[in-house]
Amino acid sequence: MKKQLSGAVALIIAGLCNIAWATTGQPPAWSYTAPTGPENWGELHSEYERCTSGKAQSPIDIETAVQTESGPLTFAYQPGHAVVLNNGHTIEVSPVNAGSITLASGNYSLVQLHFHTPSEEKIQGRTYPLNAHLVHRNAVGELAVVALLFEEGAHNPTLERILANMPGNTGGVANLEGLSVSDLLPTRHEHYAYSGSLTTPPCTEDVRWHVLSTVMQLSPAQLQAFQALYPMNARPVQPLNGRQVHIGG
Ligand SMILES: [Zn+2]
Repeated sequence: MKKQLSGAVALIIAGLCNIAWATTGQPPAWSYTAPTGPENWGELHSEYERCTSGKAQSPIDIETAVQTESGPLTFAYQPGHAVVLNNGHTIEVSPVNAGSITLASGNYSLVQLHFHTPSEEKIQGRTYPLNAHLVHRNAVGELAVVALLFEEGAHNPTLERILANMPGNTGGVANLEGLSVSDLLPTRHEHYAYSGSLTTPPCTEDVRWHVLSTVMQLSPAQLQAFQALYPMNARPVQPLNGRQVHIGG
């Protein structure tokens, strides 16, 4: 009964959101809690249908991986100016002319990075307290994401540059000079690779995912600083549906 009721509420809200989108041009609201949470994203708007119907969704629990001579994953980032935005779902950092990664399929420019807590990716069932997603796009608009996992441990000075400048309010913006995204990366670039999706609506597929296997650290105070703004902003893991995960690099 409770479930039916919340479903009905979700449909009403979805309907209202659709009207709102039609009149304001804004996409319908979604969140990480019912009734607009992940279990209902697909019903909030037709544009979000893939969140429910998609067969190659992210994130995933990486339980097994096939050792392959996977293509290259090389980083060519450069430090520079970055804009830090509180977008209402996470903290999103957009570096200007920050460089690119190179995969077997070519070059992808770094567009933005953002954070989820707890981590969206799981490794053999294990969840980490935080992850970063580094989102890249190539010349024809295809996406490649590098996922970085963080565990609690040492203070992370590069992360601190971002955390110390997080705007508290939705829509708030801050500017950073000389942000070096490459300093967030481990020296080893071994990674799990698979084909997935955006982990937020519209859950678009054909995203090339690369989850670095080296786990980075942040201090408990740093984790608390992020969680003070976003206590939980992770989509649950999605079924593999026969997809293979490769490990290499
Ligand atoms: Zn993400």
